[in-house]
Amino acid sequence: MSTPLVALTVAGTDSGGAAGVAADLATFADHGHHGALAVSALTAQDTTAVRAVHVPPLAFLAAQVDAVLGDLPVAAVKTGMLGSPGAVRLVAERLAARPGRPLVVDPVLVATSGAVLGDRDVAAAYRDLLPHASVVTPNLDEARALLGLDPSDATPPALLAADLADRGCAVVLTGGPAPGAAPDRCIDHVAVPGRPATRAVHPWVDTRNDHGSGCTFAAALAARLAGGPARPGHHDPADLVAAVEDAASYTAARLERSRAWRL
Ligand code: PLP
Repeated sequence: MSTPLVALTVAGTDSGGAAGVAADLATFADHGHHGALAVSALTAQDTTAVRAVHVPPLAFLAAQVDAVLGDLPVAAVKTGMLGSPGAVRLVAERLAARPGRPLVVDPVLVATSGAVLGDRDVAAAYRDLLPHASVVTPNLDEARALLGLDPSDATPPALLAADLADRGCAVVLTGGPAPGAAPDRCIDHVAVPGRPATRAVHPWVDTRNDHGSGCTFAAALAARLAGGPARPGHHDPADLVAAVEDAASYTAARLERSRAWRL
């Protein structure tokens, strides 16, 4: 058997086993990659709510990231819930020092359930990380927070995506069922710096069992970009749109599988 690619997730744990590091490692394994991990936050949660959050000391996060990047041939990095402004800046500094591989940043601020997992200061700290990212994958609430906009801001998602791309990385603004689209289709807005956003259309699975779907999508995108250039889509956005549609189809298949679960 040949040696697999190594994908690193820097993310939080979900004690319920659905989101965060658990989702990322399962996704990397499904793509045939070896998953490495650095835990930036720990959450006590079940299927209904986040009950407590613990953020380990920054020095310990640094030790984990340094151990992995210093030894393993990491082909892609994905970040999830980082938990504090200091953690966001630390990851930015460590990854800036070792560029050259795809970095997918899932700016976990507001979970699919609506739970707030990062405050205004965490959102502001992402200004330091985004210029080092290949792709950032906010939902609508997170895109507004990253741009410092009011949660009720009515700017159309395609413009938000293009504005965020001006921070220097490609953007996939993940959506839900969209006006004008078939009810079983979902539209994401994909933007690369200096160009208007284009759309990625993919299956939408209507299920309550969607906890961790944002993590799964971002991890699947990192898995697909692993081993490729650090700036995918900057020359031809169609490459990135194809990777987004693939990653979204993978996520939809996972959601379809768990649709009937009664946990
Ligand atoms: N990361 C962690 C550790 C979480 O606990 C959560 C949600 O609770 C998320 C990420 C985001 O989850 P989702 O993919 O459902 O938005």
